[in-house]
Amino acid sequence: MRAKTYNIRTAGQANIPVLGLGTWQSTGQDCVDVVSQALKMGYEHIDTAQAYDNEKEVGQGIKQSGVSRDKFFLTTKIFPDDMKFEPEKLVAAAKRSLEDLDTDYVDLLLLHWPDDRVPLSETIPALCELQKQGLTRNIGVSNFNIANIIEAEKYADVPIVVNQVEFHPFIKQKTLQTFLNNHHILLEAYSPLARGDVFDNDIMKEIADKHNVTPAQISLAWILSDKHRIAIPKTSNPDHLQGNLDAIKVQLSADDIKKIDSLARADGRKIKHPDYSPEWDD
Ligand code: NAP
Repeated sequence: MRAKTYNIRTAGQANIPVLGLGTWQSTGQDCVDVVSQALKMGYEHIDTAQAYDNEKEVGQGIKQSGVSRDKFFLTTKIFPDDMKFEPEKLVAAAKRSLEDLDTDYVDLLLLHWPDDRVPLSETIPALCELQKQGLTRNIGVSNFNIANIIEAEKYADVPIVVNQVEFHPFIKQKTLQTFLNNHHILLEAYSPLARGDVFDNDIMKEIADKHNVTPAQISLAWILSDKHRIAIPKTSNPDHLQGNLDAIKVQLSADDIKKIDSLARADGRKIKHPDYSPEWDD
């Protein structure tokens, strides 16, 4: 039985369920099963990408769940390589995603990384056109720094609703967050569990014990304690699905939030593009 609709955050025309299932490194039948189980359990938001090479499995999981397409929010992303570094190939790449996902539309289509070889003056108008044609309901970006977003906004005639970036207790994103808030763009937290690092941190463990929950739930609750943020924890383990979803019910005190805020450090970033290193904002 599916749970009642959970909280959403709004940007532009997008109403985005605050917690989604990440699927990077979910593969094969495990991916099919975890997507299916998540939707049946009440997840209303799934995140994938062409670069994860699992859109077919995500599509099969959606089908296996029996949950109708209008009941959840689906995001995919186009990697610069997936358009062969030629902006006009963006439309073909997006259509390939829809075919693999076996759906007529996604709710959110993101440019996965900025890349100097693919000018935003061409990709952003093409992305906007995909929204106007109904292939995606909303558009956004990922791994964009402030300068990238300022440039993207010059060419966008529909709202950019999210910037999906690395965010967890150990990374500084304050400058970027303030900029995004001022531009009405949600910060979508990827690697929200710091890829497992939150589990072994003493402060995270202490706060988790106090609330009788897990450090994973504390990390997610801390991210969601700010109304300008959403999060997409990944699990391929069905046993972790419910706990991660239940994090939306955990209420942290101002003191908990302050303690977790203090964990950010300059070298806390975990994800690097193999051959492209943007200048990150704090
Ligand atoms: P993450 O969500 O921070 O951490 C995932 C790790 O935590 C996995 O090893 C998972 O293992 C484990 N885990 C999850 N829930 C757990 C729990 N309750 N207890 C114990 N272990 C748990 O890392 P991520 O996959 O890097 O980020 C999440 C999603 O963000 C990705 O899947 C992807 O959708 C997106 N992402 C986007 C970008 C981008 O460039 N836009 C980059 C990275 C990630 P199990 O599977 O065994 O549970």
